[in-house]
Amino acid sequence: MSDKGREVVRAIHGIRGVGEVIKIVEGKRVIGHRELPMALRELHDGAIYLHGGRVYEVYKLDLSSRTAYVRKLQGDYDFYTTALYSSEPRIDEILEEGFIKSVPYQYVRLTIKEVVHGYVVKRFGSGEVVEKREFGEPFTYEFRTKGVVIYAPFITFSPFENVDVVERGGRAYHAAEHVMIMVGENVIGGAGPTDLGGISYPTGHIIIYDSYPGGSGTARMIIKRIDEVLKISLSVLTHCTCTDGCPPKCVYSPYCGNDNHYLSRKNAIKVIDAILKGGVSSSVSELPTGGSYD
Ligand SMILES: [Zn+2]
Ligand SMILES: [Zn+2]
Repeated sequence: MSDKGREVVRAIHGIRGVGEVIKIVEGKRVIGHRELPMALRELHDGAIYLHGGRVYEVYKLDLSSRTAYVRKLQGDYDFYTTALYSSEPRIDEILEEGFIKSVPYQYVRLTIKEVVHGYVVKRFGSGEVVEKREFGEPFTYEFRTKGVVIYAPFITFSPFENVDVVERGGRAYHAAEHVMIMVGENVIGGAGPTDLGGISYPTGHIIIYDSYPGGSGTARMIIKRIDEVLKISLSVLTHCTCTDGCPPKCVYSPYCGNDNHYLSRKNAIKVIDAILKGGVSSSVSELPTGGSYD
């Protein structure tokens, strides 16, 4: 990136701006910049993008030139889009290891490949899904960052739920990941709602990482204050009166790559309770190669 580019990023995002940016172009005019990897989720082909109080549609994202071409939408536009994505993590280096009660964790350097494979079109207000689109060729972006891997214990869930074992586990750890991120960003002063990303697996692996390339130190703060984060998370989950997960109070996240499917508030309670009680021990094991939730 040019020095000018870096200046633009710093101007927009302060000290966090160390990554690459996507240029937003309307006609021949650059109307803004958005930082990667977040830009990938907001400026893919077909995305509805709000900018300066106006509504735009992205008609082409050209990653090779780091440019999103947009056109203005006229009148009252009633729809918005949510990206469907998955994040493929790779652990590059272990920086620190420890235990949360009897649950092992590692603070690591990671490479994350973000893959936006489609999106949903929704109606404002109701959030009703109008259409779901998948790209023939996904948009991908790889970046290096830091994060924490929690090797949460495997929990046995109620056999009376009408879902299979893998999906039950997925719903549990995925929901626990969402709530820990939401609570973590609130507990850590100065953290924004998109500072942390999460990846979880039905096996109990939960990754919470800095969304900004290079790492911002937010995920590390989560580990430093993990007791508080877990206790508040448990309280959020147990005090919500919804059936099994609701927007926006408990386990839903506006940044979910799975459009908030595969979440269970009740099973997330079991996961967090088990970590806090420290009664169930678990061990460090390799990350699965697929089947993750974001
Ligand atoms: Zn709820
Ligand atoms: Zn999610």
